[in-house]
Amino acid sequence: MNKTLRQAVIAGNWKMNNTRVETKALVEELIPLVKDADCGVVVCVPFTNLETAVALTKGTNIKVGAQNCHFEKSGAFTGEISAAMLVEMGVEYVVLGHSERRQYFGETDVTVNKRLLAALEAGLKPILCVGEMLEDRENGITEELVALQTKIALKGVSKEALKNVIIAYEPVWAIGTGKTATAEQANEVCAVIRGVIAKLYDSDAANAMTIQYGGSMNAKNAEELVAQPDVDGGLIGGASLKAPDFKAIIDAASK
Ligand code: PEP
Repeated sequence: MNKTLRQAVIAGNWKMNNTRVETKALVEELIPLVKDADCGVVVCVPFTNLETAVALTKGTNIKVGAQNCHFEKSGAFTGEISAAMLVEMGVEYVVLGHSERRQYFGETDVTVNKRLLAALEAGLKPILCVGEMLEDRENGITEELVALQTKIALKGVSKEALKNVIIAYEPVWAIGTGKTATAEQANEVCAVIRGVIAKLYDSDAANAMTIQYGGSMNAKNAEELVAQPDVDGGLIGGASLKAPDFKAIIDAASK
């Protein structure tokens, strides 16, 4: 697979971390550190910090993302945020289908698909998360499961709209555990996802698709992971909260 046909993107998923004051400090620390990055740089911050992050990153190479959005445009959905509300704030990306949303908040492949369609319609760039549980890997069904998650999430997405989608392969057993998939395991599943894209669309779409790895990626293991032919950057949780670590991962993806 030709990596020059697509952009590597390093996206930080801050999860439920950082107040607005802390967001200001971290983003201000990051701006000079990552200004020469030769890959996409995104920070996905809590809803309450989006406005701060968007204002601070204006005119820089750092893009801002949210960590979820609802699939309806408006209505009686207490506590939810629509895709258009995010766009109005200047947000460009949105993480969808993260395993923590699937695990703790009842997210399913079907609701991920609905959110993805709504996000694309509003003009957001979704970072779609897929990945197996440890039990699935042990049962030898990783490839089928990830292929199915990808197919359902992309139902109804045109080839044109697909250009705005990033997929993050995140084995659930590697998220926040310090247990990273080996570079070979990460590459293998990213390649399976690329094969699914080729079948659903065509080889041009598959070659152009940014497919990240996520799961305990850090300053030390990033270089080997992002060097894999089918791994186009990463979705980073814990290590995105420390500017020097996030910079080291961005440097690894810029090589
Ligand atoms: C994530 O939250 O998407 C993630 C990959 O977390 P961590 O890097 O902490 O494993």
